[in-house]
Amino acid sequence: MRRPTRKITLGDATHGPVSIGGDSPVSVQSMTSVYTHDIEATVRQIQQLAAAGADVVRVAVPEKKDTLALKEILPRVTVPIVADVHFHFQRALEAVDAGVHKIRLNPGNIQDRDQVRDVIQACKQKKLPIRIGVNEGSIIERRDKQLRLKELGKYFSENKFGHMLAICVTKLEEYLEIFHAEDFHDIAISCKSIDPLFVVAAYTEISKRFDYPLHLGVTHAGPKETGLIRSVVPLGHLLLNGIGDTVRISYASDPVYEVEDALELLYCLGLRTRVGAELIACPTCGRIQVDLFTLTQQVRLKLREEIQLPIKVAVMGCIVNGPGEAEGADVAIFAGDRRGIIYVQGQRVANVPEEEILERLLQECREFQEKVRRGEARLGEKVVEIIPPDPIGELGSGWDKVDELRKATKLTVVK
Ligand code: SF4
Repeated sequence: MRRPTRKITLGDATHGPVSIGGDSPVSVQSMTSVYTHDIEATVRQIQQLAAAGADVVRVAVPEKKDTLALKEILPRVTVPIVADVHFHFQRALEAVDAGVHKIRLNPGNIQDRDQVRDVIQACKQKKLPIRIGVNEGSIIERRDKQLRLKELGKYFSENKFGHMLAICVTKLEEYLEIFHAEDFHDIAISCKSIDPLFVVAAYTEISKRFDYPLHLGVTHAGPKETGLIRSVVPLGHLLLNGIGDTVRISYASDPVYEVEDALELLYCLGLRTRVGAELIACPTCGRIQVDLFTLTQQVRLKLREEIQLPIKVAVMGCIVNGPGEAEGADVAIFAGDRRGIIYVQGQRVANVPEEEILERLLQECREFQEKVRRGEARLGEKVVEIIPPDPIGELGSGWDKVDELRKATKLTVVK
């Protein structure tokens, strides 16, 4: 069950609005990787992220020219925009003035009470939420908090990350005091680290102490290839335990991947309703007789462009698992010797040579989507039981090859 939290809302009729926390679905965030003062590049990337499914996009505003650019960027984009503020509280005030929808403050580098209070008041007037974004890397231990740290140190003494947890909790308590003194509660909290296990420990602890919505993330997770695992393991664990209200995966790669992977994680956990096709593909093996890797990537990109309904599409290499997956899918292909047999809800509709598989499969997906829209078909319905074709006769798929290999290597099959 999701942990109950307060709810914040950001955006307006043109940009969202998007709610985070409470009973809202877990949202997906990303961040632009271009200079915000490069208006064209920023608008283009924000809209790419929105098209990929981002609910909220954050932009860096290190300089005044970046906050000035926001005035031109905001009318041209369609998702709520968060200004990411570090070191200079004036950037937050300028961003609020430019019409941004939320501010992120880092307690590690904006610590002056009066400056934080100014930002809170500016946001309060415009009813904008603020994320208090603690990063393990930028947290600074303060001398006057030693007593509290000692107390928490004892509390966390069994925990591998005890000292750092104590610092993060202290920092959040200290920062939240300023917000509470201003009677400001339009808050989200994050506590990120590069260490996935620390992320689990920190959010678990914070979720017990504060009822503000939590923005989950593993910071500086690396390139997509390794950052994916580093991110989805702790985030998946937390989300499965009901912790987390909005997610940002951080890659040193095109941020569109961050959105795609965060959404896929939420779909897998049943926390969001899928938008667009669900693609299943086999990993291939020694039975494969078509170029399935290329085909799968082509299908993935085309489905993203052309299919809006959650149609289940299976791209399978041979008859071993092909019929089973094809039966469970709305549209499926399983390949044989340079050919592919295409099924729509279990009904065989085509047997085409390899070079025609992509176009025919897409045509079937488009037609099926239209049928669903017209109410003539329903997603996920099993219409016909598939009987696998004779592997050697009709498709000439890999069994003969396997047999030859078996004879050549004198392997026997244990039954
Ligand atoms: S479906 Fe066929 S080709 Fe694909 S992995 Fe399974 S056995 Fe191998």
